[in-house]
Amino acid sequence: MTTVIDLDKKCAICTETSPQSILTSTSTWGYPDLDLRPSEMQRSSMFAWLQECPHCGFVARDIEQTHVKVAPDFLKSDEYLTCGGHDFKSDLAKRFYRHYLISKTNNIQDVAFYSLLHCAWVCDDNNDDFAVDIRKLALKSLDKVDAKNDDERDNLKLIKADLLRRSLQFDELIGEFKDVFFEDKIKNEVINFQLELAAKKDSGCYAIEDIPKKVTVTLNGELHKKLNLIADLKCVSLGEVIEEMLSEKADETDMNELRENYYLK
Ligand SMILES: [Zn+2]
Repeated sequence: MTTVIDLDKKCAICTETSPQSILTSTSTWGYPDLDLRPSEMQRSSMFAWLQECPHCGFVARDIEQTHVKVAPDFLKSDEYLTCGGHDFKSDLAKRFYRHYLISKTNNIQDVAFYSLLHCAWVCDDNNDDFAVDIRKLALKSLDKVDAKNDDERDNLKLIKADLLRRSLQFDELIGEFKDVFFEDKIKNEVINFQLELAAKKDSGCYAIEDIPKKVTVTLNGELHKKLNLIADLKCVSLGEVIEEMLSEKADETDMNELRENYYLK
């Protein structure tokens, strides 16, 4: 479960005090999204991931204990106040975007990137059309991130694939990921699923549990010959004949024949 407490925090930039929500614990149940967005309850705790000073507009994970340097004029600049011209639907998206701007100015590239990713998640939650623009911006930011270890390097690749697809860059995704291979089976399944979705120009939000389970089928001799004959007659592949029979297009006779003759491993 998620627990949050309210504490007064003194802003490191303007020295004014304000009440802030502090996330003391949270948990997750189930699989993350393909871009590794956590499931509930953590998913809904984003309102407490960052603090925002209501007096000067400074944003940080902890506005009291911060190492970043921000000129007061920067917090009053048009770019900061208008979020670079992104008129987001929610104040939370603005908060993550401003955290991106502060991190970018301080050359903290990983925090800048993750702030944009989180901004995109908030846009998703609010059906905000800026989600696509923010993902495109996040892709540029991702290229500047130095992964701390192999795990993060792999995770950044998985996130990149999702950012490309969800910002409608299907061909770029296919071009960049068609030959990518991981040691980890699930990561390969994620990329294969991304490639399938990209081929269908599907930019929707999916979780790892949405990846279809594959089965291996073995045909017995007679049915194999028969299906090959159909494939030859139709000038399509054997796989396409089987797929058609397994889909809604197959009638009940076809299905019964398949059930009797397939050996599912
Ligand atoms: Zn302040």
